[in-house]
Amino acid sequence: MRIIVLLKQVPDTDEVKMDEKTGTMIREGLQAIINPLDLHALEEALRLKEKKGGEVVAISMGPPQTEEALREALAMGIDEAYLLSDRKLAGADTWATSKALSKAIEKLGKFDLILAGEKATDGETGQVGPEVSAMLDIPFSTYVNRVKEVTSEGLVVSRVVEEGYEDQFLPFPCLLTVVKDINEPRMPTLRGKIKARRAELKLLKADDLELSESEMGLKGSPTRVVKINYPKISRNAKIYSVKDLNKALDDLVDILKKMAVI
Ligand SMILES: Cc1cc2nc3c(=O)[nH]c(=O)nc-3n(C[C@H](O)[C@H](O)[C@H](O)COP(=O)(O)OP(=O)(O)OC[C@H]3O[C@@H](n4cnc5c(N)ncnc54)[C@H](O)[C@@H]3O)c2cc1C
Repeated sequence: MRIIVLLKQVPDTDEVKMDEKTGTMIREGLQAIINPLDLHALEEALRLKEKKGGEVVAISMGPPQTEEALREALAMGIDEAYLLSDRKLAGADTWATSKALSKAIEKLGKFDLILAGEKATDGETGQVGPEVSAMLDIPFSTYVNRVKEVTSEGLVVSRVVEEGYEDQFLPFPCLLTVVKDINEPRMPTLRGKIKARRAELKLLKADDLELSESEMGLKGSPTRVVKINYPKISRNAKIYSVKDLNKALDDLVDILKKMAVI
């Protein structure tokens, strides 16, 4: 099996701050890590390789420091790492990101499976996985919490849905986005880290993608962040004791009426 993992480097923070003027994320001064859900995608790829043989290739689009994330993936045991980095790709929205990634994937040769995280902790759109599959014209499944069976034709996966779980069969080649319940990612070994330091990282530039400049980066991005609002959360909690339950319900009904909900 040849498995490609989409790997994004994200700021190590729970509180993403945006530049209100440009609508882009403020990344300065923040430590960067592999998007936590992508570690689960990586782990699943490595487990599938251990069971079925083959190779695992990771690709990441980002600034030059994304190399650190790819070296960490190499230390975990992947076979090859590709860094797609070019100023021409800067300012990409999810459409332009997915277009660049899918064009790069076409350059990597035949593959059976693409694994991605369900969403990135910074952009958090969850769009890149499904967009890449649409651009490559391959089937996809999202919120995958288990790969149940792998045959020569494809795989059976379980995915999380509102009411429980749903099994789906996907023929190869296909793309899955995974949730954190799928596995427990391994830690890189010391041997892996030493090997990763010496490993060759393959660089891809915008000119390798056979895209026009109007399809890349900010120019190739049909969406713009026009305004950022931070919701104000006020907690004017009123606490009732159990004996005042009826009063609590009456007050709740009044509030809902005032809000025109009922
Ligand atoms: C309207 C809009 C405008 C934007 N403008 C800018 C901008 O000007 N500058 C800027 O820096 N960012 C910008 N962004 C953010 C940028 O689009 C995202 O960082 C990027 O497209 C990934 O989207 P996401 O973080 O929502 O990923 P998600 O779709 O949530 O990620 C899902 C999965 O896709 C894969 N993935 C996502 N991104 C990558 C990647 N780069 N390489 C490899 N795998 C990946 C990972 O497996 C990840 O777990 C913009 C976003 C939007 C919505």
